[in-house]
Amino acid sequence: ASWFGHVEPAAKDPILGVTEAFLADPSPDKVNGAYRDDNGRPVVLECVREAERRIAGNANMEYLPMGGSMKMIEESLKLAYGEDSEFLKDKRIAAVQALSGTGACRLFADFQKRFLPDSQIYIPTPTWSKFPSSFLHLSVIANPMFFLSHHNIWRDARVPQRTFTYYHPESRGLDFAGLMNDIQNAQDGSFFLLHACAHNPTGVDPSEEQWRERSFQFKAKKHFPFFDMAYQGFASGDPERDAKAIRIFLEDGHQIGCAQSYAKNMGLYGQRAGCLSILCDDEMQAVAVKSQLQQIARPMYSNPPLHGALIVSTILSDPELKNLWLKEVKGMADRIIGMRKALKENLESLGSSLSWEHITNQIGMFCHSGMTPEQVDRLTNEFHIYMTRNGRISMAGVTSGNVAYLANAIHEVTK
Ligand code: PMP
Repeated sequence: ASWFGHVEPAAKDPILGVTEAFLADPSPDKVNGAYRDDNGRPVVLECVREAERRIAGNANMEYLPMGGSMKMIEESLKLAYGEDSEFLKDKRIAAVQALSGTGACRLFADFQKRFLPDSQIYIPTPTWSKFPSSFLHLSVIANPMFFLSHHNIWRDARVPQRTFTYYHPESRGLDFAGLMNDIQNAQDGSFFLLHACAHNPTGVDPSEEQWRERSFQFKAKKHFPFFDMAYQGFASGDPERDAKAIRIFLEDGHQIGCAQSYAKNMGLYGQRAGCLSILCDDEMQAVAVKSQLQQIARPMYSNPPLHGALIVSTILSDPELKNLWLKEVKGMADRIIGMRKALKENLESLGSSLSWEHITNQIGMFCHSGMTPEQVDRLTNEFHIYMTRNGRISMAGVTSGNVAYLANAIHEVTK
């Protein structure tokens, strides 16, 4: 008898077939779902390279404090809550360095379970990859990191889940009425997971006015907003603008939670650099909450990794490096916005009679193309473009070199 004979292989991720095809593909151009430059190559930001040069030889390899790098946390909070935030000055924010955005969400979910054991979490439909997402493989394919999901995180933390309406398939936009209804109908004092900007996977964000209405409604219903902010700066090109939703909720006097990630906006995917913060009533409560967050992290991983935190704090605390970062993050966002325009224009000049407005209305890395599973199958079979069947395209992998080919293929299967 074997100890582990009863262990069955975990359910296969539906994306696995695509991943296998990717691995088997001898093309030198193949890349995964992370951001690529216009030649399809991985990008390490110049501000990151420079920070590493400054760190090299200077840093020791000691442990960070249990809650992580204080400097990195402080800079992260300035980014999310605002440089001059009164909450920061009043020390009302409990915050710890987290293992990127995923780790921040999970830590919060565990905290929620431990201290509000009867609460639930409302998750938008769809959300960050409940189903496998689509990636172009001409040159683009999925990175397994993109197939985690909010559902899995809160499930493993044993927090019961509900969903709320978000996407409107016909208009390929926001179902604002449905969303407001669900907020209204949820039990008072519910937890809601909100994508701060660049909603994954739809690329559909509420307008500023809609965020204001949402915040107003949350106030009336005493709901708790937990913001997952995985793309600050990556959506519009301006981190301040991408923090607008959070700032609106803060202005309206909400207590919020926030998960921050530097995977996309600094290209630090594998460094696992992030931050979890919770706005509290006062400093004393913040101290208590932070100590409990550390208590949850301690028996799991003890303390967070050093190198990514050093890169982040070096960049954000140096005005010159921070400016360089702002320029580079805008460059990435603009490239994606440019590819959206090019894809739409290519489709129009091919004479497509369909509306492709949503390609440029949507924001961030992803484009919910609205293609059917059958059309996606044809793209794969006839054009070697691999995307999963919900029609989501990773715009980050579209380049000047492949956008015309992609447009032509989409036109062929949708006409
Ligand atoms: N939240 C959302 C909405 C995401 O799309 C992602 C990654 N794609 C993450 C969180 C987490 O990413 P990471 O753990 O690499 O920061």
